[in-house]
This record gives sequence, C-alpha cells and structure tokens, in this order.
Amino acid sequence: MPRASFQTKLFLAGISAAVLTLTVAGALFAVTMQRQTNARVEQTLKTEAQIAVELLARAVDTRNNRRSLDAEADYIGALLTARVTFIARDGGVLGDSAEPPEALAAMENHATRPEVVQARESGVGLSRRTSATLGEEMLYVALPATHPTVAFVRIALPLTSVQTQLSSILTATLTALGLALLGGIVIAGVLAGRIGQRVRAIAWVAQRYRQGDLTPPRLDYGDDELGIVARALDDSVHELGNRIQELERDRGRIAAILAGMIEGVIVVDQAGRLQLVNAAAQEMLRIDEAPIGRHYLETIRHPAITDLVTAILDGRTPASLEFTPPRDNTRTIIGRAAPVTAGWPHGVVLVLHDVTELKRADRIRRDFVANVSHELRTPLTAIRGYVEALSEGDTSPDETERFLEIIMRHARRMERLVQDLLRLARLDAGQETLDIVDCDLRSLVQSVFADLAPALEARAHQPHVDVGADAGTAQADPAKLHDVLRNLVANASAYSPEDGTITVATRREGDELAIDVLDSGPGIPDEDRLRVFERFYRVDKSRARDPGGTGLGLSIVKHLVELHGGRVSVRNRPEGGACFTVTLKAGDTTRA
Ligand code: ADP
Repeated sequence: MPRASFQTKLFLAGISAAVLTLTVAGALFAVTMQRQTNARVEQTLKTEAQIAVELLARAVDTRNNRRSLDAEADYIGALLTARVTFIARDGGVLGDSAEPPEALAAMENHATRPEVVQARESGVGLSRRTSATLGEEMLYVALPATHPTVAFVRIALPLTSVQTQLSSILTATLTALGLALLGGIVIAGVLAGRIGQRVRAIAWVAQRYRQGDLTPPRLDYGDDELGIVARALDDSVHELGNRIQELERDRGRIAAILAGMIEGVIVVDQAGRLQLVNAAAQEMLRIDEAPIGRHYLETIRHPAITDLVTAILDGRTPASLEFTPPRDNTRTIIGRAAPVTAGWPHGVVLVLHDVTELKRADRIRRDFVANVSHELRTPLTAIRGYVEALSEGDTSPDETERFLEIIMRHARRMERLVQDLLRLARLDAGQETLDIVDCDLRSLVQSVFADLAPALEARAHQPHVDVGADAGTAQADPAKLHDVLRNLVANASAYSPEDGTITVATRREGDELAIDVLDSGPGIPDEDRLRVFERFYRVDKSRARDPGGTGLGLSIVKHLVELHGGRVSVRNRPEGGACFTVTLKAGDTTRA
C-alpha cells in the first residue's frame, strides 16, 4: 500500500480536527439546549400553575361561581393552552380541562400522583411521565390551591411539543454543523493542497541534492517556517557545496604537488594498506601499479621500507635509511618515515629522496679536487727540486740552462692547467656566450693548422683539409669552433707517431655538418671511448708517455660543442688511428 502523502495526512488531520470540534460543540449545544428548554418549560409551567391557582382563587373570591369546577378547569386550560386539573384533598378529580364532566367520576384517584405527593410535602410538585389518562409523555406541575374544595391545581403539558421544538433546533444545528464541516473540508483541502505543493517542491529539491546536483533551484519557498526550513536547507547545501569544491581544489592542489614532487611519497595506514603512492615513488621503486587499499608488501618488497614502516607502527622514531632500489643498483635512495595522525590513526608517511645525482656530484667533486692536486703536484715537485738544485749554486752553466728549461716547461704546464680549469669553470657557470655565424670551415681549419704549425712540423705531421660537397660552412661561434678543432688537432698530433697525416674532413649529413679529425695514432680502446671526455681522464693512466696534456682538453671540447647544441664522439678507424667527429648545424651558404 502506498504511504499516505503529507498532503493527505494534513488534510485528514484538518478534517478530523473539524469533525471532532464540531461534534463536541454540537453535542454540548444539544445538551445545553435541551436542559435550558426543559428548565424554561418547567418554569413556564410553574408560572402557569401559579396563574391557574390565582385564577381559581379569584373565581371563588368574586363569588362568580357560575361555572362548575370542570368548566373552570376548561376555561383556565384554554387560557393557558395546557391541561388543567383540580384535585380534591382526598385525591379525587374535581375538574379537568382534558376530560368531559361525566368522565371525572371514572377518573383514577390522584392522591398518589408524584407531583401531588410532592406538592403536599414541599409546596411544589413536578413530575414527568406518561399520562395514564392521555397515554402521552407529559410534564406535570402541581401547586396547593387556596380553594374550599380544590386542594391542588395541576398543569400538564404534553412533552411532544417540547420535543418537536427541540428537534427543529437540533435539525437546524445539525444542518449548520454539516455546512461548517463542508466548509472545513474545502478549506482543509485548499490549505493542505497548498502546503502539500510546497512540501513536494522542497522534497523534490532535497531529492535533487541527494543525487548530487547542489545548484540551488531558486524556488519561492514563502515566509513561514516551511520557507525558513527550505532556505536553511538551501543555504546548508550551498555551504556544503562550497566546502566540497574547496576540498576538491585542495585535493587537486595536493595531487598536483605530489605528482610534481621529485621526492617519492608513500602513505600507508595502520594496517599497512597503501593510501597513496606518488609518481616519483613509483618511478624510484620501479612499481608499475600501486593498488590503493592493498597491503604495501604486495607491491613494495624492500627490507629498508619494511623496517621504516614497522618502526613507525611500533611507535619508534627510525633514522633515515639509505638503500638501492630494486632492479637498479646504480641508484641510491634515502627513505625517511614519520607517523601520520590526521585522518587515520598512526599511519605512516614515507618520503624517498633519490640521492644518486648528489652522490655522483659529490664523488666528481672529490675526484676533481684529488685530480687537480695530483696534476699540480707533479710540476710543483719538479720545479721545487730543480730550484733547490740551482740554489745550491754548484751546477754548471749547461745544467743551469737545462734546469731552467725544465722549470719553464713545468711552469707552462701549470699555466695551461690553470687556464683550462678557469675555462671549464667559466663554461660550467654558463659565462661563455655564443656568437653564432656561418663559419667558413676551410679557412678555419687552415688557421688551426697554421696555429699548430710548429708542433706539427716538429713531429713531421702532414696537415690535410678535405671539405666535402655542400659541407663548407657550419653555424658556430668561430673562436670557439677554432678552440675545439685546435684541441682535437693538437691531440691527433700528440698521440700520432711521427711522419703521419692529420686530416680534417667535413661531410654534410642532412641539416647537419660533421667534422672528422683523423689521425694515424693508436686509437682509443673501446672501454675508454666514452670516458675520454671526462675531466682528467687519460687512457694511459701511468702518464709515463706524458705528451704535455692537461687531461682537460676533451672535456672542454665536449662542453663547447654541446654549448652549440651539437655533439662529439670518437671511433677508431679500420685502417688504424682515431677519428673524432664534431656534429653541428650546417651553415646556410654551402661551399664545396
Ligand atoms: P690530454 O690533455 O691528456 O690530451 P684530453 O682530454 O685531450 O687530455 O684527452 C684525454 C685522453 O684521451 C688523453 O689522455 C689520451 O689518452 C686520449 N686521447 C685523446 N686524443 C687522442 C687521440 N687522437 N688518439 C689517442 N688517444 C687520444
């Protein structure tokens, strides 16, 4: 059975209240009416009885006793429009307006009639019963008379007339009540309808809110309590909507922060279930998927992480742990853990830092300092030794000259080293700016050969330039490209045996231009090929065959080429010798 609607309930309540009120009012009215009518009728009858007594007495006083007692009864009865009975002391009926004279003798003795008995005892008698004579419900009033023979005068009124009066009043009352009820039904219906409509509107809005549509519908709710409730609902939902939006914004912000963080963040709850794993953490721990809500050990199995989580869950404060992530032992990660108490009790937040780069940079820095010290120590020791020998003053002029030459060579070497170091520092600091133009490679290479002519000639090296078709120009800073090629050609000369050929050849490769520097030296072993561009890296670690280099030349070359957006690589030639290749953007004007 469908539940009764609010409107129906309101309507039924209104009707019930109306029916109850009208019934109680009608019943009270009917009872009161009946009581009052009875009292009035009794009072009237008493008054009429008094009048009858008076009239009878007067008839005696004026000796105007022409009429018999029965006729007197008829006369007074006609005046009062009531039945009048004269009763003798012994109870015999002396006159009766309702009976002919001849019937009087046959009438019952009235001495024991309740009204007569009462009148005799208290002066007034009143009784309501069915008349034995008339067979009708009657109201009797008896009063003692001041008459020689008549002891009591009795007035009787048939109650049917009173009842008729009452019933007409009751009919009118009932009709009025019926009409009032009908009016009540109509008013209750209309009011219940209106309120029902508003309640339905509010219910519809509430339903909409429940389904997640939080936009206020802008309905006219009215000014009464219902309106206040509806507006309060709207306001609360509006407020709630704003808070939800704010929370979502916050969530979005936090998600964006977590996603953009370099640090890995993992949050687990007290039961060890994953609550959050950001992208950085997934990447560090090589996790493809982090199922939120599942136990962390299902995805993250690392003793260090387990130790951190267990420590926090046991209420301890663990120190940060350094570990290598699974499946990648080249990297180092530092994990820190802290308890979370907001939201869920005693969860754990793990923050992971990838310190691989930091460690590498630290190692490079330490190596660099060690290398620089080492590089400086050799010439410094030599210089000090020769200076000491000279200061002793017992060297021959030839020796002195040789010693000074050696001191000069080492001083120059230190100077070169410091120059190279300063250049690298400038490059590292981004202080060298480029002035890119279309460089004519042929003339540039020739000027490099010219610069190095004394060194080349000393080792009987033949320079050779080979500019390929469409490979005449490159987009580069001429001074810096000069430095690059000078370094490479100097190396080629330094590491090639005497009497070899040193070739600089250019080739076009699409938009790019490759410059090869070829020599006829020993080439570079495969395992060192990538590392020769590192600072101070030398293939020949013993430095026995010291060609006077600083070990920084190739790293300066790499830096300069990369500053141009180009790249440098080395390979060994099949016919022997190394081939360093610098690749840059080709120039716009190309000349063969
Ligand atoms: P260096 O000043 O020692 O030449 P570089 O940075 O220029 O330092 O070169 C690094 C190392 O690479 C050299 O010590 C050498 O062992 C190797 N190398 C460079 N160029 C050549 C080459 N043309 N042939 C063979 N080995 C080379």
